[in-house]
Amino acid sequence: MKALMKMDYGPGHVEVREIEKPAVTQQDWVLIKVRAAGICGTDVHVWQDKFMFWPPVTLGHEFSGEVVEVGDKCKKFKPGDRVVAEPQINACGICEFCRSGRTHLCMEKWTLGWRTNGSMCEYVTLPEMFLHKMPEGLSFELAALCEPVAVAVYDVAEHGKININDFVVVQGSGPIGILAAYMAKRLGARSVLLTGISASEYCRFDVAKKLGADYIVNVQKENLLDKVMELTEGRGADCVIETSGAPSSIALCTDMLKKNGRLIGMGIPADKMVQFPWKDAVLKSLEIYFSMSTSYTAWDKALCLLQADSDKLQNLITWTGVLDDWERVFNSLVAEKDVKAVFMFE
Ligand SMILES: [Zn+2]
Ligand SMILES: [Zn+2]
Repeated sequence: MKALMKMDYGPGHVEVREIEKPAVTQQDWVLIKVRAAGICGTDVHVWQDKFMFWPPVTLGHEFSGEVVEVGDKCKKFKPGDRVVAEPQINACGICEFCRSGRTHLCMEKWTLGWRTNGSMCEYVTLPEMFLHKMPEGLSFELAALCEPVAVAVYDVAEHGKININDFVVVQGSGPIGILAAYMAKRLGARSVLLTGISASEYCRFDVAKKLGADYIVNVQKENLLDKVMELTEGRGADCVIETSGAPSSIALCTDMLKKNGRLIGMGIPADKMVQFPWKDAVLKSLEIYFSMSTSYTAWDKALCLLQADSDKLQNLITWTGVLDDWERVFNSLVAEKDVKAVFMFE
């Protein structure tokens, strides 16, 4: 089968390879025929050598597909089921995190797409316990967005505790930033302000508006802090969601927040150390949350949103195509000429 793989350490080394189709080797695992696979920022970063990976490895962790084979001990799923899956394997099942339903935090789990073979290929095999059934009528293309939507549910709904009438700032206009803005608005925020750079003007800002952003600030043209203070009559934002990972954006979060405001850290900075006004954050009694990956509970909520808001969320997908066109679309994502791109499989 065809797979888009990262073959070696360093920038580049990504190519479409012909590899053996995986088989169900464990009784509680299933084989899924991939029908759609989304491209995440992390896939692009693996290509650029800006994110961790264990080569050779098939890229991709966002996908939807059809179950084609199940192990003898599978209980819930059968061939023909249309599914999405939490992109992980090897969770130990007995640690504190696994026992409390947080397998995504298990020290032994491997994530698809960088630690173990991912979804940008024709077939994927993984444990049945990570599968979720797609609602009737939801397309494979849109269902491939379930993972990033689950990220937004987990961070913005479950951690962010967005409330009615909140003023929310989202920093960054990538798919996760736009989904965070959508989520905040969906949860009742009064206004959502989303930031980006001049390159984001090409298409990302328009998509963000369609998904619910009320205000857009190009930080290369406008003073963000002044704008937030103007719109909140000097009080500051109730919540800042940082999805860009840019040091200059991270440094600004504290100043934009009201006292006891909430900061949600989602973006991953390139470097280990980033300057942050810790003292001001203490004096302002800020609530700060970080998270990586998704909770089990976020997935069915994400599927519910994908079905209920399918017309709106469809705007996020600006490109669909085949695996062989990967290089063109990876470059276009880097240049911000696309928002979300999805590989489709027959
Ligand atoms: Zn992702
Ligand atoms: Zn565990």
